[in-house]
Amino acid sequence: MDNKRIIIAIDGHSSCGKSTFAKAIAARLGYIFIDTGAMYRAVTLYALEHGAIHSGIVEEAEVEAMLDDINIDFRFNPARGASDIYVNGDLVEGKIRTIEVSNCVSAVSSIAAVREKLVAMQQQMGHKRGVVMDGRDIGTVVFPEAELKIYMTADAMVRAERRYKELTAKGDSVTLEEIYENVVSRDEADMTRKISPLRKADDAIVLDNSAMSVEEQMEWFLEQYNRVVGQ
Ligand code: C5P
Repeated sequence: MDNKRIIIAIDGHSSCGKSTFAKAIAARLGYIFIDTGAMYRAVTLYALEHGAIHSGIVEEAEVEAMLDDINIDFRFNPARGASDIYVNGDLVEGKIRTIEVSNCVSAVSSIAAVREKLVAMQQQMGHKRGVVMDGRDIGTVVFPEAELKIYMTADAMVRAERRYKELTAKGDSVTLEEIYENVVSRDEADMTRKISPLRKADDAIVLDNSAMSVEEQMEWFLEQYNRVVGQ
């Protein structure tokens, strides 16, 4: 059954449900799911906690100097059906999705040394194939040879509303306006940065899930998957 294990690359705009989608696909196929955004967020959290970000301004040289002290690993959490992210042995999964981290992560992810370190880790984690990886540059840079590439998007207000519900359900005090601003400004920053900007790979297929349920997205995915693996 596993003789056709492929690499599935999911890239796209902020907060359009890439990780939820990738996680569901991985569970369905028995693949490993890797949320690369969590890795950039973990580095950002570390930089915030260790004084390399002052009043929202990211000090690139300071972040770069910290990189060797940041050891990231994922450990499977059966309760979540996905892996939790750890930094230097500390569980940070619950701390990386705050608006504070979201507001600084695009600046951190545009630092060349940060990308170099994380991309190398991602390539190592996926080299056995049978992996679903989501991010911004998976189909273009991390695994340009991925057999199935999906470029996800959705209306920016729909995305902001989804993220707003998620954060307020956790008890975070945020406004829809600030979430919307963050989503739009991260898209802009991620698409215009010099290194590995977010863009649709030429061979990626677009999924706009603005008006799609999770079940409809899975149905759509299975059609694409079966086409690629030839079932
Ligand atoms: O996917 P998520 O929204 O958690 O990603 C957070 C940020 O990490 C993105 O806005 C982007 O700046 C950065 N990122 C990246 N490359 C990836 C994944 C995430 O630059 N492969």
